[in-house]
Amino acid sequence: MKSSTTIVPVMTETEPILEVKNLRAYYLVSKGYVKAVDDVSFTIFPGECVGLLGESGCGKSSLALAIMQLFNRVAKYAAGTSNIPGLAQEFDKAKKSGTEERPGVSGSVIFRGMDLTRMDEEELVKIRGEQISMIPQGLTRALNPQYSIGWQTGETVEIHDENVRLIELKKKVLDFLDLVQLGDSKIRYVLDPGSFSGGEAQRVLIAMSLVNGPFLVIADEPTSALDVTIQRQILNVLNMIKIDFDVSSIIISHDAGVIAELADRVAVMYAGKIMEFGDAVQMFHKPGHPYTMGLMTSFPTIAMMQMRAGGKRPALRGIPGEPPVLTDLPSGCVFHPRCAFAKEICKIEIPEYREIEPRHWIRCHRYGEIDDNAC
Ligand code: SF4
Repeated sequence: MKSSTTIVPVMTETEPILEVKNLRAYYLVSKGYVKAVDDVSFTIFPGECVGLLGESGCGKSSLALAIMQLFNRVAKYAAGTSNIPGLAQEFDKAKKSGTEERPGVSGSVIFRGMDLTRMDEEELVKIRGEQISMIPQGLTRALNPQYSIGWQTGETVEIHDENVRLIELKKKVLDFLDLVQLGDSKIRYVLDPGSFSGGEAQRVLIAMSLVNGPFLVIADEPTSALDVTIQRQILNVLNMIKIDFDVSSIIISHDAGVIAELADRVAVMYAGKIMEFGDAVQMFHKPGHPYTMGLMTSFPTIAMMQMRAGGKRPALRGIPGEPPVLTDLPSGCVFHPRCAFAKEICKIEIPEYREIEPRHWIRCHRYGEIDDNAC
């Protein structure tokens, strides 16, 4: 039984479970703004898995923090530790200004009809960990080394249900540890995280993220710190959850193979912006944005080759150049210095993020004029 303070909005099945609109998340550093998330919009429907794909440093994790309403805390800490006198105070002042060009989060994050950006911390605490949960990046920091994994998983339940009985709590935790195939869960329930391998710790974190029956799970690089054989096992667990649970998810990865395996739709991110967002099979078969085309010819994964192949094995090419520094973004289209199709307009005008067919969005001046065989 949920606690009496649980927030339960009314919504219908056809509505998106999450609607991110014009979301910006900026850090303030001595050189100015780091536009980690810049005018991002997308939706997720019930039961859907959206993959967030892009190179390291493109803003994927900042987007996850902004959705969870944890970004401001991190950004303020970053400003406070920059050794620039008054920067943290500047952050507070600018945050109150209400403009888009300001540090912290602006825009809206509508989750089940509620705008999370307008909620206070007390309300957010009731939603985080219960209705939305997150599997964070960095296995070693995510679990507290001082407490047993059984206690830590149980704490997630107790925070949202103060009336839960101890016997029920333990059974629930053991059920979820078994669900993620931890093995010997009754014995390992009392062990601290130091006794677990990376793959086992990841299973515990997945169990924690599911134990309250959330509507949305955000998994940040769920396989990146693991050996390939363990990655396979974790992908199997995530696939099983996707099939067996009616839960929406965002899978963040720089690995197109992981995204190809799990995602129904894919958002490709570059320098804080979504460049393309659409159906996963379509995007792997026929990417529409030059950056997506470049990504698809950069990763040697079997799943990708099967999806793209259709009898033709794609050659690996990669993308020339480096992603831009986020404090010094190129003019016009942020991808233009690396784009083989760039024209004069690309250096001057920021391309609009437009829906080129139902549920397929692209940010490119030249969509329709270029094809991936030319890339
Ligand atoms: Fe390339 Fe221009 Fe499209 Fe940007 S807008 S991706 S530079 S073609």
